[in-house]
Amino acid sequence: MTRGAPFREATIDLDAIADNVRHFRALTGVQVIAVVKANGYGHGAPEVAAAALAGGASRLGTATLEESFALRRAGITATLMAWLHEPGRRFDDAVESGIELGVSSLEQLVAASEAATVGTPTPIHLKFDTGLSRNGIATHDIDRVLAEAARLERIGRVRIIGVFSHLSGASLDDDRAALFRFHDILGRADAVGIRPEIRHLAATGAAIALPEARLDAVRVGIGLYGLSPFAGRTSAELGLRPAMTLRAAVAAVRRVPEGTGVSYDYVHRTAGETTLALVPLGYADGIPRQASSRGPVLIGGRTHAVAGRVAMDQFVVDVGDQEVAVGDEVIVFGDPTLGHPSADDWADAAGTINYEIVTRIGARVPRRAIS
Ligand SMILES: *Cc1c(COP(=O)(O)O)cnc(C)c1O
Repeated sequence: MTRGAPFREATIDLDAIADNVRHFRALTGVQVIAVVKANGYGHGAPEVAAAALAGGASRLGTATLEESFALRRAGITATLMAWLHEPGRRFDDAVESGIELGVSSLEQLVAASEAATVGTPTPIHLKFDTGLSRNGIATHDIDRVLAEAARLERIGRVRIIGVFSHLSGASLDDDRAALFRFHDILGRADAVGIRPEIRHLAATGAAIALPEARLDAVRVGIGLYGLSPFAGRTSAELGLRPAMTLRAAVAAVRRVPEGTGVSYDYVHRTAGETTLALVPLGYADGIPRQASSRGPVLIGGRTHAVAGRVAMDQFVVDVGDQEVAVGDEVIVFGDPTLGHPSADDWADAAGTINYEIVTRIGARVPRRAIS
C-alpha cells in the first residue's frame, strides 16, 4: 500500500489528452477545436491546451474572452476563439490578442467590426441558434445579421472565418433537425456571399454519434478529457482515456464501536466495530454533497462508499476491518480500466453528469500534470 500519498491532488495525464485529440482526428477526419473553457473542465487550461495542440488540435475554444486572455498570458500562441460575451463589451483587446470572436447578435457583430483596424478585419465565427435556445443569432434575426456580416466583410471590417451552432443532444432526431436548419442557414449565407473557411456544429456527442454533423471541424470538450458524453457508454467503449485522477491521503484513522454516528446528521451509523478513515476532500473541493453515503473511493485495492455526509473539507470512509493507515492513498476517481472509480460513478452517485464532477474540482486541489 502506498504510504505518504499526496494530501490532495488531481493528476492530469497530458498524454491521454493528446491521444484523445488524435482519436477524434482519426475518427472524424476533420479539424478538432479543443474546448478548454472553465479551466479546461477543471483540468488546468494552459496545460490541457498545450497537450491538445500537441495531439493535433487546430484551434482552442473558450467560453469567455478572459479565458482566452489567460491562455495568451500562459504563452499559448495558437488560434483561439471565444463565444460568450458580456453585453455591451468592446472587442479591441480581443483583436489585439488575436482572438477570434464567436458572434451571437447584431450588436456583437457591430462591436466586432468597430474593433477592426485598417487592413485588419476582425476574425469572427457567426453563431446561430439552431434549436438549443441559448445564445446564437436568433431565427428571426438570421437574414438581417447575414446581410450586415456580408457587407462588413466586403468593406474589410470583419473576416468570417467560421459559421457555427451547438446541438442539444436531446436525441439523434433532434440533432438531425438542427443540422438541417444549419444547412439552411449556410445556404442563406452563401446566397449573400458568405463563404466561411470552417463550418462547425458538433461537440463531442455528435462528433461520435452523428457523422454527417462533422462538417469542417468538431468542437471537442468532454471527449478531450477522456470522458463519455453518453449515459451508459464508458470512456473505454469510445476509445477514450480519462485524463484526471483525483487522489488524497488518508488524514486520520480510528477504530470505533458499533453504533457510532459518523459525520454531520449521523446519516451513517457503524454496523459493528469498524475502522473509519478520514479523506481530506469536501464539497469545497468539488466532492458533491449529494453523493453523501454513495460516492465510491478506492483504498488499498478495495472500493468503499463515502460514510455519511460529505462535509466542506472532508468525508469519512468506513473501511471495516481493512488495515488502513494515515498517509495511505485514496483514489476518488480516475481510469476505471485501472480499477479506479470513474467520474461517471460519482456523477451517478450525485445525480449529475461527469462534466460537472471534473469541472467543479476546486482551487484547493493542486493539479499535477504528468506525461
Ligand atoms: C462547451 C461547448 C462545447 C464542448 O462540448 P462537449 O460536449 O464538452 O464536447 C462545444 N461547443 C460549445 C459552443 C460549447 O459551449
